[in-house]
Amino acid sequence: MLNNIFIVLVNTTHPGNIGAAARAMKTMGLSQLRLVQPTHFPNTEATARASGADDVLHQAQLFSDYSSSLQDCQLVFGTSARKRTLTWPTLTPRECAERALATPHQKVAIVFGREHSGLTNQELEQCHFLIQIPTVPHFSSLNLASAVQILAYELQLVQQLPSSPPTLSTPQDTVASVEELQRFYAHLEQTLIEIDYFDPKKPKLLKRRLQRLFNRTQLLNSEVSLLRGMLTAIQATLRNKP
Ligand code: SAH
Repeated sequence: MLNNIFIVLVNTTHPGNIGAAARAMKTMGLSQLRLVQPTHFPNTEATARASGADDVLHQAQLFSDYSSSLQDCQLVFGTSARKRTLTWPTLTPRECAERALATPHQKVAIVFGREHSGLTNQELEQCHFLIQIPTVPHFSSLNLASAVQILAYELQLVQQLPSSPPTLSTPQDTVASVEELQRFYAHLEQTLIEIDYFDPKKPKLLKRRLQRLFNRTQLLNSEVSLLRGMLTAIQATLRNKP
């Protein structure tokens, strides 16, 4: 459902780009825009560039920090023009659209970065997948609203295809949200510290690799409960040791 897809623009500098992104969304049936600390909003330049997609701008939700704009989502895609040092699973816009629409009712965020510097590595680490729009090798950076247009187009295209086979998720047992996963990662980290497997003073590579592993599997709520039950049992055993 395109209604469950949130286009998240992070720290956008030029209000015209926000308007153009709203227009790009509306042409493809998307309406849920989230703005994280835009430099200027609302703004007449944004309205002018929206060219009639004013409703998308009016309904836009404003957030004062990045994490809270993603809390209720079960699947998060981060877009990036550059190959990053970070090795994270990377998809094309088509693959992104297929995954976004594969599970009914899941809330999906597609995140777009700053005009000059994109998204930080820390912001990208909160995403399940990275999306790179294929370009020629040496000129890979599209205008922000053009990037939104391409993702929105792919979503519209995939939405029109006959529905794909059902996934494991059911209305009673959905894919865990970012908020639930963050609680699980904190619990896992705490337990790994308690069994001396993870040293919090050492670089955070282990934490990142574990998050990448679990993000890739798209855990269901019941599976998060199962894993957290195991962690609780490990902690209880440790605490009962003489
Ligand atoms: N110099 C920045 C480019 C920012 S362009 C960088 O290296 O990331 C602004 C935003 O548009 C990016 O953060 C991304 O969200 C989107 N974008 C631009 N080109 C893209 C591409 N080829 N693939 C995916 N997203 C792209």
